[in-house]
Amino acid sequence: MPKKRMTISKLKKKVWSACSIFIRKSYADNFGYVYCYTCGKRMQIKEAQAGHGFAGRSKAVLFMLDIIKPQCFGCNCCASGRLDVFTYKLRKEYGNERFDYLYKQAHTNQGQWRAEELQEWLEYFQLKGGTTPPKRGKDATYPPKNRNKGLS
Ligand SMILES: [Zn+2]
Repeated sequence: MPKKRMTISKLKKKVWSACSIFIRKSYADNFGYVYCYTCGKRMQIKEAQAGHGFAGRSKAVLFMLDIIKPQCFGCNCCASGRLDVFTYKLRKEYGNERFDYLYKQAHTNQGQWRAEELQEWLEYFQLKGGTTPPKRGKDATYPPKNRNKGLS
């Protein structure tokens, strides 16, 4: 039987889930921990979420990797991303020029997703290991590295 083509929205969900794992893994330390970008909470990769620094999930924003960071559930969901802190930190991290560029890009209408484009992103994240489930931290008692000290 021919395989049924995945709908755009299903495909988008699949790519986002690979992207989320990719982001959390790329910010993880050797022990499998990440820090919430907006409150500094230390947590295991699988507890963390990936949050966007700009509101909305438009095509321009959805896989804008520079503005996607690990976040805790509290910041990402309960506090709607804590975007005030998020954008403040992004501006500090990238500098005004880069930040303004990203902001402009994020607010440019890129139209609708095509399946091929999503497929390309999926391959990208798969190539980067995005679909491998994150490993559990080796030593849960290891002290945090203070990589993220909040608003310093
Ligand atoms: Zn947080």
